[in-house]
Amino acid sequence: MIEIKNISKWYGHFQVLSDCSAAVAQGEVVLLCGPSGSGKSTLVKTVNGLEPVQQGTVTVAGTVVGAAGTDLAALRARIGMVFQHFELFPHLSVRDNLTLGQIKVLGRGRDEAVARGLHYLARVGLLGQQDKLPAQLSGGQQQRVAIARALAMDPLVMLFDEPTSALDPEAVHEVLAVMAELARDGMTMLVVSHEMGFARQVADRVLFMDQGRILEDSATEAFFAAPQTERAREFLGRII
Ligand code: ADP
Ligand code: MG
Repeated sequence: MIEIKNISKWYGHFQVLSDCSAAVAQGEVVLLCGPSGSGKSTLVKTVNGLEPVQQGTVTVAGTVVGAAGTDLAALRARIGMVFQHFELFPHLSVRDNLTLGQIKVLGRGRDEAVARGLHYLARVGLLGQQDKLPAQLSGGQQQRVAIARALAMDPLVMLFDEPTSALDPEAVHEVLAVMAELARDGMTMLVVSHEMGFARQVADRVLFMDQGRILEDSATEAFFAAPQTERAREFLGRII
């Protein structure tokens, strides 16, 4: 579903990604971890074309991201993305947050958009909150609305970039529970997270990055039991 092939990227003279390759199969959950500054966010953003690459290709569901002739807006509409800081529209109700993209980007009618929005709001356990503004919800609830909003767009894949790192422990748990359920339901997911308990339970594979390179690409149990590189061993030693 996602294929990253030999991509390299520079910010000016600084090489942020060096010859990275990875793939996420349909229904697979892949955890991307590594030290701060290793290039995780940049790699994830190449998948929906938010960060162009100078070498290599990224393909999502058979479409080459950023190629001449690719309708990037149409592709992006089908790639769900949830960031660390919930990016709900603060002046819109939860209902309008859930429906705006469906109406403006997918061209759905209002009734259908509301019905789908509420369906996914129920799935993240927040039915009844649709008339509130984001600021009237807790951080964990806001992040669950962000997930529901992405799901209402019928995403091919879901990208998560440290979705729980700005949350208090209880909220972390409620957001991870929603993500675990999504994984069980077969969603294709690429997740940047330091939540190693979640990773062990939910991820099929783990990618470990350091200094712009993917140093490990292992089955989850193999990664935790016996990381192949000293850098990954050190990293695990520090965060577990
Ligand atoms: P991570 O998500 O693993 O912490 P990032 O992908 O955010 O890493 O950043 C990787 C490196 O690229 C860091 O050294 C960061 O400072 C640098 N970087 C990120 N964005 C930019 C940018 N827009 N311009 C220049 N350097 C950047
Ligand atoms: Mg990051």
